[in-house]
Amino acid sequence: MYFDPRPKTSREDLFDREEEVERVKALRAPITLVLGLRRAGKSSVILVATSEMPHPVVYIDARRFEAEPYLTFKHVAEALGEALAQPMRRFPRLREYLKNVKGISVTGFEVKISWRERGSLVEVLEWLNRWAEEDGRKAVVVIDEAQELTKLKGYNLLKLLAYSYDNLRNVYFVLSGSKVGLLKKFLKLEDAGSPLYGRYVEAVELRPFTLEEAKRFLEEGCRQYGVSPPDAEKVYRAVGGLPGWLTYFGYTYVSVRGEEESIRQTVSYAVDLVRQEFAHFLEGRWAAEKRYRVIMEAAAECVAWSELKRAVEASEGRRINDAEITRLLKNLVDYGFLEKRGNLYCPPDPLIAAAFRK
Ligand code: ADP
Ligand code: MG
Repeated sequence: MYFDPRPKTSREDLFDREEEVERVKALRAPITLVLGLRRAGKSSVILVATSEMPHPVVYIDARRFEAEPYLTFKHVAEALGEALAQPMRRFPRLREYLKNVKGISVTGFEVKISWRERGSLVEVLEWLNRWAEEDGRKAVVVIDEAQELTKLKGYNLLKLLAYSYDNLRNVYFVLSGSKVGLLKKFLKLEDAGSPLYGRYVEAVELRPFTLEEAKRFLEEGCRQYGVSPPDAEKVYRAVGGLPGWLTYFGYTYVSVRGEEESIRQTVSYAVDLVRQEFAHFLEGRWAAEKRYRVIMEAAAECVAWSELKRAVEASEGRRINDAEITRLLKNLVDYGFLEKRGNLYCPPDPLIAAAFRK
């Protein structure tokens, strides 16, 4: 069912995205990135693709770290330990291999990685690689919302990725995140000092649905419930093309039926969620909180840089230097609250705009 609100795990529930799923499944490079805004369907595409792979999949949902101000090696070791249970169940012989890792204890399918053994992460990957090689498979490590790991202190995950990329031929990574956040902030692919600099990565980008796609999505989704579809143009205008909001709309529409009421509920839910995510973004940035708010309110209808500067200056009654404005905007873009269209700054979808419109 297309309108099931959880991330999709099987192909029949996933609308379209065939090409994207195939590209993730193909594992064309040691690192595949799945890029898109929140609710574009990254987790769904990854889950569907990995469910169809004949390989062990180690799946780490880094959103578990969303509320943590910073991360240590211990967080990562714990998450990896838990994620190993699933592939060991599916491939019991893998257990025997993993028992060789120093600093790891395997009881049943429970794996504990000691936070004192920093070398154990490399070793886990090395044994996964060895097993995969002997079994004629690939070992796939998924880190969903990998940009959360930029908060990791005292352990260089990029070095681990680069080592694996260069040496472990049977280990493949699938990383998801927002385009700017994952590429620039986490992997630093364009930064000559980064361990991953110059490596080829396969990038699969999930764009919002177009009006045409949204229309088909709503029509086919409604058909699954035997309900006649809404006016897709009206829905699209109000909620935009992100699959997550369209799914929420569809889910509401098939139960309450009323088009207006379902739009209203979707917008109100989305606005709450976006505001919550923004509050989250502001944690630790409290010194600039007011400026961020002023910018988002001013940018609710696409505006130019100079106008945003003016808005901040007007709210404080004094001049602000250009670099500061640029820094604030860069952060908002990195976190997906704004995007650049030509020389204008805009909310990337109508519901983000709605969350900041006064
Ligand atoms: P992300 O991981 O990018 O935030 P999710 O995969 O969690 O996005 O998807 C958000 C919501 O949208 C979920 O309810 C999911 O079921 C739905 N969804 C996303 N893509 C599709 C799709 N192609 N077909 C049907 N539902 C989808
Ligand atoms: Mg997700």
